[in-house]
Amino acid sequence: MMELRDLGARSGMKVPPVNMGAMRFPRDVKDAVSLVRYAIDAGMRYIDTSRGYAESEWIIGRALRDGYREKVILSTKSSPWIIKLRPDDGPTAATVRRRIEESLLRLDVDYLDYYQVWNINSREHYEEATAPGGMVEGILQAIDDGLVRRTGFTTHDTVENLKDYVREASWCDTILFTYNLLNRQYEPAMQAAAEQGIGALIMNPVGGGRLAEESPVLLELAHQVGAADVPELAIRFVTSNPWVTCAVSGINRQADVDHAVSAAAKPSFNAEQMRLINEFLDARTPQNTGFCTGCKYCLPCPQGIDIPAVMRCIDNARNWGLLQAARRQYQNIKSAKADACNQCRACEKKCTQNLSIAEEMRWAEKHLT
Ligand code: SF4
Ligand code: SF4
Repeated sequence: MMELRDLGARSGMKVPPVNMGAMRFPRDVKDAVSLVRYAIDAGMRYIDTSRGYAESEWIIGRALRDGYREKVILSTKSSPWIIKLRPDDGPTAATVRRRIEESLLRLDVDYLDYYQVWNINSREHYEEATAPGGMVEGILQAIDDGLVRRTGFTTHDTVENLKDYVREASWCDTILFTYNLLNRQYEPAMQAAAEQGIGALIMNPVGGGRLAEESPVLLELAHQVGAADVPELAIRFVTSNPWVTCAVSGINRQADVDHAVSAAAKPSFNAEQMRLINEFLDARTPQNTGFCTGCKYCLPCPQGIDIPAVMRCIDNARNWGLLQAARRQYQNIKSAKADACNQCRACEKKCTQNLSIAEEMRWAEKHLT
C-alpha cells in the first residue's frame, strides 16, 4: 500500500501520493466500474469527478457499493460557467444546492467528502462564487446540513490572482492545480497554498497523456535521475515537490493505475535530482531557447493561420521530442494550418522573437502532417 500524506493542514484527511481522476473512464460501464474498484484496491483513495464528466458520477456510484464508499475520499464539482443544466443556473447558493443534491443522487451516497467550485479562472469568477448568496455560501450551508464535509476549488487562473485567493479563502481546504514537467507555472501559487494549510492537488501530472508517449529527450532526463521511463519521471517529479499534496491522474485502463502506483512507490527525488530536472527543463523554456513565447504579436495572419498554436506543436516535436503528441495536437488545430501559408512574411516583421515563421510553417507542413 502507498504511504499516506496529509491532505493539507486544514482538511485533517490523509491521501496517497497518486489518486483517481474520473474524466477518462472506458465507455463500457462494466469495465469502468471494475476499473474504479481496481484503483481503490491498488490504494488510490481520493476520487475527483464532476457533474460535467459524462456518466462518471453514475459509474462511481455503482463502483462504491459493497463497502467501497468507506475506502475513498469522494469529491465532485460544478460551476455554471462550465455547465448550465437549467436556464436559470447561476453562481448562487440555490443552484449549487440543487447540484449537490443531484450529485448525491447520481453517486448514490449520503454525503460527499468534498464539493469543489469548478474552475475559478478569473477574479470575476472568484467574486461571484464568494459573494453573499453565492456558491461558497451554498456549499458551506450543505456542510452545516451534513451533505458535504469540506470544500475548495479547481483553477486555471493566473498565479497572481491565486496568491490573493489563498490569503482570502478561509473557506477553502484544497486547490486542484495543473502541474507537470511541461507546465510548472503554478509552483509559486502551490507554495502559497501549502503555507496557508491548503492542500495542493495536481491534475494532469502526465501532461494530459503527452508524457506517456515516447520522447527521446525526456527519456534521457529520466535515465539521468534514475527513473525507468518518462511516465515514472513525470509522476515522481510531481509527487516529489514539497508543495504538492498528491497527484490526481486520469485513469482509462488498469495499466494507468499500475504505472501511477508503481511510480509512487519509488522514493521521492532528492534535492539534487530535482535541481537536475529543473535545470534541464529551464534550458528548454522559450526564454532560453529563443523560440516562440506564445505572445500572439504576429497575429492576425492574412491566411487565418493560428501561428502560436502551430509553433507550440513545433516546440513539442523538436524541443521536447514529443512528435506523436505534436502531430495529434496539430491535427486538432481548428483554424487554417501551415499548408495555407503563402510565405508573405508579414508575421515576421511583428515577431518579438525574430523567428523565421514562414520557414517554420514549411517545417510544420513537412513533419507534423
Ligand atoms: S508568412 Fe505565412 S504564417 Fe506568416 S503571415 Fe504570411 S501566410 Fe501567415
Ligand atoms: S510573435 Fe513570434 S513569439 Fe510571439 S506568438 Fe508569434 S511567433 Fe510566437
